[in-house]
Amino acid sequence: MNATDAVERYSDEWLILEGVRCFCEGFLKGLELPPRQTISEWADANRKLSSESSAEPGDWNTSRAEYQRGIMDAISDINVSEVTIVASSQVGKTEIINNAIGYYIDKDPCPILLMQPTENVAKSWSTDRLMPMLRDTPCLQGKVSDSKDSGNTVLHKSFPGGHITMVGANSAAELASRPIRVVMMDEVDRYPLSAGKEGDPVKLAIKRTTTFWNRKIVKCSTPTIAGMSKIDASFQQSDMRFFLVPCPHCGKYQRIEWANVKWEKKETNEESAKTAVYACPHCGACWNDVERWHAVGLGRWEATMPFNGHAGFSLWEGYSPWVPLKEIVKSFLDAKDDPEALKTFINTSLGQVWEDKGERVDETRLINRREDYTTAPPEVVVITAGVDVQDDRLEVERLGWTVNNQSYGLGKVVLLGDPAAARIWEELDDLLQTPIPHALTGEMEISACCIDSGYLTQQVGKFCQERWNRRVWAIKGMPGEGRPILKRAPGKIKKLNLEFFLVGTDTVKDVVYSRLKIDDPAAPGYCHFNMSYDENHFIQLTAEEAKTSYVKGRKLRYYALRPGRKRNEALDIFGYALAALEGLKLSGLNMRRRWEKMLARQEYAEKVREMVERNPEVVVENIPKPDILRPRRRRRLVGRFA
Ligand SMILES: [Zn+2]
Repeated sequence: MNATDAVERYSDEWLILEGVRCFCEGFLKGLELPPRQTISEWADANRKLSSESSAEPGDWNTSRAEYQRGIMDAISDINVSEVTIVASSQVGKTEIINNAIGYYIDKDPCPILLMQPTENVAKSWSTDRLMPMLRDTPCLQGKVSDSKDSGNTVLHKSFPGGHITMVGANSAAELASRPIRVVMMDEVDRYPLSAGKEGDPVKLAIKRTTTFWNRKIVKCSTPTIAGMSKIDASFQQSDMRFFLVPCPHCGKYQRIEWANVKWEKKETNEESAKTAVYACPHCGACWNDVERWHAVGLGRWEATMPFNGHAGFSLWEGYSPWVPLKEIVKSFLDAKDDPEALKTFINTSLGQVWEDKGERVDETRLINRREDYTTAPPEVVVITAGVDVQDDRLEVERLGWTVNNQSYGLGKVVLLGDPAAARIWEELDDLLQTPIPHALTGEMEISACCIDSGYLTQQVGKFCQERWNRRVWAIKGMPGEGRPILKRAPGKIKKLNLEFFLVGTDTVKDVVYSRLKIDDPAAPGYCHFNMSYDENHFIQLTAEEAKTSYVKGRKLRYYALRPGRKRNEALDIFGYALAALEGLKLSGLNMRRRWEKMLARQEYAEKVREMVERNPEVVVENIPKPDILRPRRRRRLVGRFA
């Protein structure tokens, strides 16, 4: 259609619409607020870096470390209520917090809380970071009175329209007062679990912001151990932003990752580090420091999860314009052979959580490999039990053992009742004397049992003493590296004249966990479970993990509950049943000989049956027994070992 047609056709509607548009624009113009400044704009316009706290004093320049822009502007963004920054050291996190504080004091005054791990850190932040900014940044000068009679202290400063309080996460009293609109929490992974008796300091601080619809919660920290890191947990709940930079060679946007840092192996760590380059995973080109820093200048944040009001940022030294690559590689090479130093490197340089790899057992795998048996399989040579005493029940595990140390779970039994009363012990006694159906021998008795005497020591001690000849042993768990699985306790339980045994619980857990990790059902040590074990049993069985810590340079390895796990009885009773087997072996049990005997007896019975079938007159006593079944001088297994 030509122009004239078009005008004729649309002119009427067009005139009406245009009129409405003009009216609306005028109306909105009248309502329009002055454009809101972001924190990065404020900082670029006003902020001065002080000589005592900055290597580059003078005018602030956000583009010096471009990734800071997105973080600071998220803090001033009205749609963001929570900001989480997981960062290594040396990325400028301190100044991000300072800029936010300066912005709020100058542009959006309100009550602010700045939390540091301890009160001392809070005090030095106030004197070394905050005061120089207030002094050197012109628009902040004079806003905070430093005269003594203004009520201002090192940790509390008021300004027109608001105040800032600095606290240590360890001081509970400070956390319970006044409402706060902006909470900034620095180094949250170094906070104590509880502020005095008041509970989680992070929760306490957030609670104080509830009266403000426009509250702002900012958390930042270098992360610590996976599963325990608060900042990592918080980041997982955010929209998880990562900073993408374009390759100077192929232009492809990508995260800067430690895995792409390459170096050549030379004589010394220092020489090796000097060869460090960043290799683009897309084109293979190597970036030098200048190229990398230039790429960071062109970078942008990208969220990996939907935005729900919580912006999360992840950063490491590889993005920092203040750290040459060779320095990062040098610290890695210096740290790599010492787990504790390596953990520090991963936390503070890579800004990542430390995973204690290979020390955990996955419960799902165990659940999925349960088997369909109800009687003890033929290869089970001996059955032992382990008993844990709780204040309202006894938990009993019964395990069948084969010659190659495989175990068959024969079903956990929970006896409910008060262990201080007699009834439950009678039930246990019955259970321990109940034979278990066996595929080869018809049935099999429980040969030995370990009962934890840590709780109700006298009761357990007495019960076991009376059943000494049935190899029912009272045990006490002893943590610590290198202890034997089972040994006789040097003393007797006081006054009672009772014997008891010590179980090296860490050694037992080492054995149990290394066996639970075996995947080949034919391999020695493999642990079989039948369908009677439920999911909860496996969650308990895998509840602990080995940890390593260093005390005065000495390495300490110990077991602790994994985060989120509460109960571990299934692990304990498995371990006690294993200790009972150890007791039998120490008393002279020869698994191989017992196994051969079982087979021989079976063969002999078969032979007798055949012969009787052929000739019903045969005298059974005259059929020769194999050597292994001839009676020997009997040795009683009563646990008389050292
Ligand atoms: Zn490239």
